[in-house]
Amino acid sequence: MIKDNYRTILNNVETASAQSPFEKKAKLIAVSKMHSAGEIMEVYEEGQRDFGENKVQELTDKAGQLPDDIRWHMIGHLQTNKVKNIIDRVYMIHSVDSEKLAVVISREAQKHALVMPVLIEVNIGNEPSKSGVKSEELEDIVRKISVLPNIKVQGLMCIPPASADAEKTRKYFAALRNLSIDINQLNIDNIQMNVLSMGMSDDYAEAISEGSDYVRVGTGIFGMRDYGK
Ligand SMILES: *Cc1c(COP(=O)(O)O)cnc(C)c1O
Repeated sequence: MIKDNYRTILNNVETASAQSPFEKKAKLIAVSKMHSAGEIMEVYEEGQRDFGENKVQELTDKAGQLPDDIRWHMIGHLQTNKVKNIIDRVYMIHSVDSEKLAVVISREAQKHALVMPVLIEVNIGNEPSKSGVKSEELEDIVRKISVLPNIKVQGLMCIPPASADAEKTRKYFAALRNLSIDINQLNIDNIQMNVLSMGMSDDYAEAISEGSDYVRVGTGIFGMRDYGK
């Protein structure tokens, strides 16, 4: 089941990339939160190496049990006091949403002599319940982060407002893309926005058609998450 789902999604991602006007190949992140190491291995055996988790403890537990060549993407809200637990285990942090968090990431990365690639999470629908920086605060935070030595902003991430209408969601994806273009035009030292992390199980095809580089798909690969466990 999982293997079949995975192959279907991978195919769809390739097709959507080929049809997209942006002429780039979107990468698939398999979002494995709440799924077991065994389930992850089924997808790993198919060749998948990029996996996403949204909780520090879960990510470190799984990273400890699974092959070293997995690239772990931290996609959930990150508390400053937990940065040290993942700093040398993650490939990219998609969810930087404050200057304070960026400062801690840079400081912890320095201790390991590494430069951490990150994305800034934008609250693109301006929803009070969601984390992420507001569009109008983005330039300011990017400028502040740009001077930190051990963190490298590579782009933007968003989770648009839930909607049954994928065409509505598409407008948010386009808005995120335009924000990254605006920031690039400022020519801030040390800042080049090349990566857009957008699109989940229900809307990854639309995200790719709007220029996504990373789609984050959980349910479409692993099935429904059982929050009652
Ligand atoms: C859970 C999660 C996903 C995957 O969502 P699905 O609808 O299961 O594909 C993607 N991005 C983030 C940030 C998530 O927390």
